[in-house]
Parts: sequence; structure tokens; C-alpha cells
Amino acid sequence: MSEKIAVVLAADRHPRPEQGATQGLFLAGLEHRPEFDVTVVPHLYDLAPDGPVVRMLRSIRGDMIVLAWLYPRSAFWVLDANGIRGRLGRTFSLPEEDATVRTRRKAGDVEIPDRTIWCFDLRACDGPEPYLQQIDEIVAEKFVPAEQVAERANGKARRLEEPTRSRWYPVIDLERCTDCKECLNFCLFGVYSLDAAGGTMVEQPDACRPGCPACARICPSGAIMFPQHNDPAIAGDPRASLQGLKLDLSQIFAGVDPAALAAQERQRALADNGASAGDLAPRQVDPPDEKPSLDQLVDNVDGLDL
Ligand code: SF4
Ligand code: SF4
Repeated sequence: MSEKIAVVLAADRHPRPEQGATQGLFLAGLEHRPEFDVTVVPHLYDLAPDGPVVRMLRSIRGDMIVLAWLYPRSAFWVLDANGIRGRLGRTFSLPEEDATVRTRRKAGDVEIPDRTIWCFDLRACDGPEPYLQQIDEIVAEKFVPAEQVAERANGKARRLEEPTRSRWYPVIDLERCTDCKECLNFCLFGVYSLDAAGGTMVEQPDACRPGCPACARICPSGAIMFPQHNDPAIAGDPRASLQGLKLDLSQIFAGVDPAALAAQERQRALADNGASAGDLAPRQVDPPDEKPSLDQLVDNVDGLDL
């Protein structure tokens, strides 16, 4: 007997009525496919790391299909940060990335289960048909034909609820992160730390200052994402996030200096926290073996009169 395939349908943070209608169409389409085990959950980014939904998602052992109102990179790495890991599967929501900028996951990192997580972005959705068609193709390619599991009763999707609040924290794409530690040296709030293998990690996500995306602007690899930021380059767009320093068009045409903008955002976060730059200091870690050119930029930011 084949196992059912887990499909996770994650709601948006503040769903609009039309999003609820779209979600209903997806459920109607999925519930008539007996090979799926469908679960509806709240917004992935806002889930509590030790909450019931994350615990349930961690208990899923096999492949997973995730439908969320997020960039697929964001959804995948939010799951990874919560211990729900695998390989990121290709879908039409995830165009090919430039292979030259991808790096390996850090040595000594946690074991990655041998499974695939396909993430679909619902924000551009005009209807469920193309999504369901590709999901059927994934199933046909990787799993047994549907009729072999059709003897199981068609199941309704289950809904898992938990009280959520709007969270704000950085999510690292560990395939891109080169462990340069720029973010760790830049942040004044102790959000970043080093794991047992010396790799950069988000240790205290909720210490991040709401609205501050500064470290995403200075990450030289485009590895840091804030999934709810309105700039695609910061929210997880695979191509825009590789532009180097992150500025939107209006900022570029206004002649905004990326380093100064990051410094302003950090200063604003300090002020909101009732602190001054002198009260807090970045964590100091050993400099990377090969000093990247961005070091000079961060030095300049730290030298600004804040
Ligand atoms: S700045 Fe970016 S590449 Fe460097 S350690 Fe932080 S997340 Fe990784
Ligand atoms: S630099 Fe700003 S955005 Fe980055 S982790 Fe620290 S507080 Fe959050």
C-alpha cells in the first residue's frame, strides 16, 4: 500500500475574501484526489517554532507539497529553519537560478532527509488548474498511479489552527550562504550566532527589530530573506535577491546609498529599542578566511556617526 502524499495549504497572514475563495477551489480539487493527505495551516512564517502546527509538520516523513502565499524560497527556508527539511523541488513557481552563485550547505550541518519539498507560490494564482496539473505530474512521475490508493476513502482536508501573531525575523537560504558572517558582525541585536559547526545561524529570531531588513541589504550572497517585506529582492525573489545590495527602483533613481540606507534602518531599530549605538555592539567573530569586498562597505557603515 502506498502512503498518501502530504499537501500543506498555508493561509496568508491576513487573507482577503478572494484568497479564501481560491483556497476553497484548491481544497475542492485536492479532496477529490485520494492520493493526497491535505492539511490547512496558518501562515507559515508566523508559526511558533514549538507550536502544534510545526510539530505536526515535523512528523511528516515523506515528500511534501506546499502551497503558500510566499516565494517558494521563503516557504522552503522557513520550513527548514523549523526543522522541516528536504530538497527543494522544481516547480513553475521557482524559475531556474544561476547555478554559479549557489554554494553547498555547510559541512557539519544537520542531516537532510532524502525527500523532496515542492513549494508553490499562490500569490500569482488565477485559478488552481495549472497548480493541480503540475501536482498531478509530480505524482505521476514519482509515485504509484492514483488507482492504487483509490481504495482509501476520499478524505476531507484537516485544519490545524493555532493562535499566531505577526512575526518578523530573518530567514537564511543555506544553499546560498557562504558563511562570511557579515550579518553576524552587522546586527546589534544578537539575532545571529554560530552553530556547533561554526556556521552562521539565526539563534534569536524574535530579537530582530520589526521592520528592519538591514542585514538582508548587506548580505553579499542574497541569502537573507524577510518573507513579508514588500521588496521582492528582500522577500525571496530568486533573481532580484542576487542584485547585490538591495534597493528598489525608486531608491536607485533617488540616488540612495545602500550602505547609508542599511545604517539608517539599523539606527531606526536602535531608536525604537530605546538604545543608542554606544549601548550595543555587534557580535565579533573571526574574520572570514578570504575578506570579501563587502567588508569595506560594512566597515563604512559601522563608521557612520550613529
Ligand atoms: S551575510 Fe549572508 S552569506 Fe554572510 S553569513 Fe550572513 S547570511 Fe551567510
Ligand atoms: S540587522 Fe536588523 S534586520 Fe538584521 S537581524 Fe538585526 S535587527 Fe533584524
